[in-house]
Amino acid sequence: MILLSKTSRNRCFIRLLNHISITTCLRSTLIDITHRNPVKSYPPLVYHNDYSCPWPEDHRFPMNKFVTLKDTLRNSGIFTGEFHTPINPLDCDDILRYVYAAHNIDYIQRFIKNQFTDLEKRKIGLDFNSYLVRRTFSEVGGTILAVDLSLEKRMALSLAGGTHHAYRNYGSGFTIINDLAVAAYYAMAKKNCQRILIFDCDVHQGDGTASIFANEPKVFTVSIHCELNFPFTKQKSTLDVGLPSGTSDIEYMKAMKNTFQYAIESYHPDLILYDAGVDISCHDVLGKLSCYLVIM
Ligand SMILES: [Zn+2]
Repeated sequence: MILLSKTSRNRCFIRLLNHISITTCLRSTLIDITHRNPVKSYPPLVYHNDYSCPWPEDHRFPMNKFVTLKDTLRNSGIFTGEFHTPINPLDCDDILRYVYAAHNIDYIQRFIKNQFTDLEKRKIGLDFNSYLVRRTFSEVGGTILAVDLSLEKRMALSLAGGTHHAYRNYGSGFTIINDLAVAAYYAMAKKNCQRILIFDCDVHQGDGTASIFANEPKVFTVSIHCELNFPFTKQKSTLDVGLPSGTSDIEYMKAMKNTFQYAIESYHPDLILYDAGVDISCHDVLGKLSCYLVIM
């Protein structure tokens, strides 16, 4: 998750592209970034130890990716600063209220009390162990802190987030609370942001986000995704770019640059929430695209 404030958005775009492989680091991308030259200064990075909770080793969702990303940034010498640690919204009513702005109260309370039905759990697809509630909320807290830091420092990154398949009253596709939606409500209400762009580059459409903000004129949702991939029933974002299976780096970057430029010129956002999904990688088993994540 990368967040940009208004003053930085244009000149930071090239830097933004250079950060994609860092924030989306998984599997092959890890190899790429360890061969990069260390950068002289980094935007603030947000991380919490709760991002990766104890997890079944054979589970389809790679829960250890967050701690792996943090360790790789550290061990490679790419990032030598201090990570910013977010407050868990469960410990702060002033943040928790924005979770309830994005979601149905009953839905969130049933999650906290582990009262989801088997059907709801199956649709989400995660392992509902005793750590999951705090882990999920910590991720939301990370995105909220990244909003604060980006408005202060122009740009900030959280090493988790982008849980865009969560709707107001149900979760799906490994996501329960939509951190993008919570952060946007927080930015509007607490930080007086008037025009928020959610620029979603995960290979799967940001259907939950599109649904939540379908009638919210202050939030513009853009999703660049693989058209023939989950979710198979798409929602209507403000702007959807459905790419064909097998799209390569050159085609992808062209689509991304054109779409980003169009979004900036059309919406004039004062805050950008950028969801940099690593699953556009050709090595992602669920991705269906052919991107090697080589930055051009
Ligand atoms: Zn995805």
